[in-house]
Amino acid sequence: MTTQWVYSFGAKESNARPDTQGPVKNLLGGKGANLAEMASLGLPVPPGFTITTEVCTAFYKNAEQYPAELRAQVDAALKKIENAVGVKFGDAKNPLLLSVRSGARVSMPGMMDTVLNLGLNDETVVGLATSSGDERFAWDSYRRFVQMYGDVVLGVSHHDFEDILDQQKRDDNVFNDTDLSADAWKNVVAEYKALVKRDTGADFPMNPVDQLWGAVGAVFKSWMTARAVSYRAIHDIPEDWGTAVNVQAMVFGNMGDDCATGVAFTRDPSTGENYFYGEYLINAQGEDVVAGIRTPQSLTILGREKEGSNLPSMEETMPGVFKQLDDVRQTLEKHYRDMQDIEFTVQSGTLYMLQTRTGKRTSAAALKIAVDMVGEGLITKEEALLRLEPQALDQLLHPTLDPAAHKTILTRGLPASPGAASGIVVFSADDAEAMAKDGKKVILCRRETSPEDIHGMHAAAGILTTRGGMTSHAAVVARGMGRACVAGAGALQIDYETATMRVGDRVVKAGDVITIDGGAGEVMLGAVPTVQPELSGDFATVMQWADDVRRMGVRANAETPLDAKTARGFGAEGIGLCRTEHMFFDPTRIQHVREMIFANNAPARRDALAKLLPAQRGDFAELFEIMRGLPVTIRLLDPPLHEFLPQSDADIAEFARIANIGADQVRMRLRELHETNPMLGHRGCRLGMTYPEIYEMQARAIFEAAIKVDVTPEIMIPLIATHRELAVLKKLVDETAVAVFAETGKTVSYTVGTMIELPRAALTADEIAPDAAFFSFGTNDLTQTTLGLSRDDSALFMNDYLRQGVFARDPFATLDIDGVGQLVRIAVEKGRKVRPDIKLGICGEHGGDPASIAFCESVGLHYVSCSPYRVPIARLAAAQATIRENAGKKPDAVKRAA
Ligand code: ADP
Ligand code: MG
Ligand code: MG
Repeated sequence: MTTQWVYSFGAKESNARPDTQGPVKNLLGGKGANLAEMASLGLPVPPGFTITTEVCTAFYKNAEQYPAELRAQVDAALKKIENAVGVKFGDAKNPLLLSVRSGARVSMPGMMDTVLNLGLNDETVVGLATSSGDERFAWDSYRRFVQMYGDVVLGVSHHDFEDILDQQKRDDNVFNDTDLSADAWKNVVAEYKALVKRDTGADFPMNPVDQLWGAVGAVFKSWMTARAVSYRAIHDIPEDWGTAVNVQAMVFGNMGDDCATGVAFTRDPSTGENYFYGEYLINAQGEDVVAGIRTPQSLTILGREKEGSNLPSMEETMPGVFKQLDDVRQTLEKHYRDMQDIEFTVQSGTLYMLQTRTGKRTSAAALKIAVDMVGEGLITKEEALLRLEPQALDQLLHPTLDPAAHKTILTRGLPASPGAASGIVVFSADDAEAMAKDGKKVILCRRETSPEDIHGMHAAAGILTTRGGMTSHAAVVARGMGRACVAGAGALQIDYETATMRVGDRVVKAGDVITIDGGAGEVMLGAVPTVQPELSGDFATVMQWADDVRRMGVRANAETPLDAKTARGFGAEGIGLCRTEHMFFDPTRIQHVREMIFANNAPARRDALAKLLPAQRGDFAELFEIMRGLPVTIRLLDPPLHEFLPQSDADIAEFARIANIGADQVRMRLRELHETNPMLGHRGCRLGMTYPEIYEMQARAIFEAAIKVDVTPEIMIPLIATHRELAVLKKLVDETAVAVFAETGKTVSYTVGTMIELPRAALTADEIAPDAAFFSFGTNDLTQTTLGLSRDDSALFMNDYLRQGVFARDPFATLDIDGVGQLVRIAVEKGRKVRPDIKLGICGEHGGDPASIAFCESVGLHYVSCSPYRVPIARLAAAQATIRENAGKKPDAVKRAA
């Protein structure tokens, strides 16, 4: 059996396979598959054929040779078109003309543009003039063909053609192309052909069959152009997918005033509103609509009114054809069960469909369309959930730039935390805080941020850094707080001394106003207006559906009352990570923390800690109140102590004065605490092992706060490597509980568990589990320690790694499933073996990443925890993970609507 390389559509003997959305789309490409599908639905599609993507693959495998049977199959398919239309390709009296279009599986810029009117030459143009009775139309079509073919297939500059056309219009003293006469077009064609000869050294091909193979070859060659190759690299499209070629009988929208061409969406792609949205042009061909030479008119009266246009709609000028088109719209939506983006042409009052595909849409439109289609019975709730892109919800949760606003872009950085914000430029956290207190909106601009800047980041409306990646301190904290953040804007130079920043010769001073768009990574001059999000309505509906199906819980990483409230507002079902060090950085407490660090012995440390206790207790009480009835996981102190010490000379002097010690002494302690590698130093549970008083104070604060509120504290010991560390520290916590319960005469249920963030802990999870009521996977550090890769420094070279395919995605953004994921899996299995009821969650940044959430579902974690603004994303992603996981177990579990 020989391979079928060519599939016909539209003609009676159409032999395209029926299930065009599955593998056939791979074979015929998106455009070809949908043309065949429309034809099989009985819609008016001009007949044609598709040369499969397999020909493209074979072509490149075989030194750019076509498969031997291809020519015969193309000839046969061409015959079918001729039979269906009743005219012959190359016929001098009444020629068949063709369009040749590329069509990969996914629409791809960089591919060959469409060539229309193929088959015209000096002879057939005369036949076309006679058969159509319109000489002007025939020569207009011919000049379009020579230009398109010359440009797209022969590589003659598009501008040189334009110059000739402009000259002709000047000579004839006309403004519009449509005002040129047949004779003028004849002249243009002659000059076009001379241009081609000059440029390529060969005559313009007159033989229609040569023209066809020239165009087909150009489509296949365009698969390997630099633009196509780099687009594929960026979008992860494999080279062996190949492109198909679609050859189709031409229909003419440029034969007079009962002809037209247009593009449309079956619903409004920016709002999702259910009305027919589109444009058309009378007496025009193909790309005239998008070319912008003439102003296209709205399809419908409603659309025309919305735009405030007085150009008549198609509904008014061609009511009969419009009715047909509107029926097509219904048919397509019923069939594809999704919003479609279509192209059509009207030839002498007859409608033809030239393309359909799933329409691109904004996040807001995606939400509305999904909800509406469930209401209309077109799709199920599960399908609606699967169609939404969780990350895209982000767009809906933050203020966004008013799309109508004018913007002057200063520079670009990484889109580190979504949302748009305008404010006054400040260069220090203290300035940010001071100005915010005066009611001003500020953008905190730093080379990079550190935990000392937290108060300023909180006070700022947006954060801009020149260094660091998507998981730099600035990015992580900004996402956590829901602040807009552009990170790593490398072209920007900040000079703290002069309080200025510059890109090239553009200088921005402290006090100037800028706008940042953390969703796009853009930095703009001045205040660009923003619009507020709408979280009720369709958004709430979709979230409810997601909650109904998802198996995993969704918690938030939050420590401040504001973050906790935001998280609850977004539907968090508890706190999965409360970082207690944040509470230590509070300006009113840092003094006591430093006193504690400077204490020489345990009793002195206890004295300092006693001063911190009421504040910690207050913090927890407030947090528990907000999370009443829900679980709250509190991580005991984690960062190395030197992070709390003063660094600048001024801060050192100030601390020395208050603490009544010499500045030299402060400096000495700083040197003592200095670590060569703080990430692997004296931090996490290691602090608790050395200074048990610290953890004891924290545990006491937790219990004393919890006995007043209905809440289940989950006390989490960070960074354990061995079961012994957990055993020692759990005992300390339990003894503290006993003491507090005895003192107060009240008890509260609580659990003690651990973070799994070191490979050794994961590998020995069965030894650890007897003392751990829960494991929370701290995948930020687990990624760092598994890959031996610093998340703060890797940004510098991560792009090289991504470009060369070492990682498909940044492992700090999407969990490295093969490596880190394997450790998670091992820990889950070993933990469950000895403790079947062990509670399992994740609290790294990955807890808000849809791909990582799918992994969490597959290993059976109980919940994911993420920053407050990612909670809705996680709710949707968890729902999708459940649906897909169930579908995997039972292939037909994802129900289709009837
Ligand atoms: P794109 O991918 O840029 O949309 P298409 O392959 O859809 O490119 O073709 C561009 C335009 O060419 C279409 O909008 C359509 O109007 C016109 N076109 C394509 N095939 C035909 C045809 N058989 N008859 C008339 N016009 C056609
Ligand atoms: Mg195109
Ligand atoms: Mg198109």
